[in-house]
Amino acid sequence: MADPERAALLDRIRQLERAASPLEPGAADRQRLRDAVVGSSERFLEKIDTLKAYEETADKGIGLLRNLISEHGIPIETVIESFEQDVVRPGGNPASAGHLAYIPGGGIYHSALGDYLAAVSNKYAGLFFTGPGPVRMENLLIRWVADLVGYPATAGGNIASGGSIASLTAIVTARDAHGLKGADYASAVVYLTAQAHHCLEKALRIAGMGEAQVRHIPIDDRFRMRPEALEAAIAADRAQGLRPWLIAAAADTTDTGAVDPLDAIATIAERERCWFHVDAAYGGFFLLTEHGRSVMKGIERSDSVVLDPHKSLFLSWGSGIVVVRDVKPLAAAHGYSGDYMYLQDALREPGEISPADVSPELSKPFRALRMWLPLILLGTKPFRAALEEKLLLARYFHQEIQALGFEAGPPPDLSVATFRWAPQGASLEEANRINQQIVDQIKRDGRIFLSSTLLDGRFSLRMAALSFRTHRKTMT
Ligand SMILES: *Cc1c(COP(=O)(O)O)cnc(C)c1O
Repeated sequence: MADPERAALLDRIRQLERAASPLEPGAADRQRLRDAVVGSSERFLEKIDTLKAYEETADKGIGLLRNLISEHGIPIETVIESFEQDVVRPGGNPASAGHLAYIPGGGIYHSALGDYLAAVSNKYAGLFFTGPGPVRMENLLIRWVADLVGYPATAGGNIASGGSIASLTAIVTARDAHGLKGADYASAVVYLTAQAHHCLEKALRIAGMGEAQVRHIPIDDRFRMRPEALEAAIAADRAQGLRPWLIAAAADTTDTGAVDPLDAIATIAERERCWFHVDAAYGGFFLLTEHGRSVMKGIERSDSVVLDPHKSLFLSWGSGIVVVRDVKPLAAAHGYSGDYMYLQDALREPGEISPADVSPELSKPFRALRMWLPLILLGTKPFRAALEEKLLLARYFHQEIQALGFEAGPPPDLSVATFRWAPQGASLEEANRINQQIVDQIKRDGRIFLSSTLLDGRFSLRMAALSFRTHRKTMT
């Protein structure tokens, strides 16, 4: 390269380095940015008790579109103002104690700090070779969850982004573990109840198994799968030459908070050689409580289980865990090399299984830290206490709502209660209309946020106590 040409090239490189320098703010700029961001989160947390659980706004955050992404940035003050006004304010507020709709999130602060540390260090969490720390951390959390479930030493799993992706991972594992190929899909049979979460049928479809036969097993008056009906369905399918494959039970169902009789289902699954999956996305971490362990008895006999730390462990959105009793089929379904012998070494050696080998992800955020940090800092005691509190709050609510004259659904297995206003003499349509009005009215008021469901055609209100911020005073 001629000298002038080289000089021009170096000059251009210097210019670009300068133009790119905002990507690396110095200590003073970092402080300024951090103060603005922390200031906003402090304002939010300081007034969280008075913020609405649902804020109905006409604009629905449309103001966000005023600030266009262009060649030049805008000041952090403007950005935070729009963030608070257009992003945080409108709609549901899952951080609020009064958020009793759907499944409340929560978002403990320690978890947010874990996200911050994870993002700043940006440690790679996909492969043990380059990220031994994050991978050990993920695997120790998987082991902690496996112990909670009661799985043997062979168990393995993955921290995914949520319960839906974790469920997909379990379905794909179950499919391959049973050697199902395209030609078998139409005769493969899945057993669940009409109360099962829709993410399971969605996962089946994404896994290419949309043609699989899905049986909705009848439920009892508390919305739990009836084991004898499951046995009958399996027998009928065998008689027709179909291939019973997967039984998916819930612990507990999103809609009514029912826990299926896991122990009885496990016995059937073992005898019928079906893959037994437990969807504990909502209720899983109630295993930390004595009551939870007793209602979920039998979960330890399942083949795979999904639990959402962003639900019953109070983390902010973004964590769902799948644990499989035996890591081998999980790795066989998700490993890339196709040579799984190394797994035996990995299990024997002090080395660790890499998340990339047991999930669809390669690069992944350092998700373990958002769960590990709160657990290592606080220990399990406050989590157990908060979960026991939710169980009792749901029981309390179930009694109080009847004292107020509402018709209550079954006593809560965990922390969801359903109820409806059913005035004497009102027709089903009238009652449904009144209950719809109650939900709409509560939403407009916004202090609390409840959702609804249709149970046997009856429009019912639904109260889910799962936020760590929800206490006795929220219930009154
Ligand atoms: C929330 C939920 C899911 C789906 O999990 P996401 O984390 O929302 O993807 C599945 N099953 C049950 C029982 C749930 O409550």
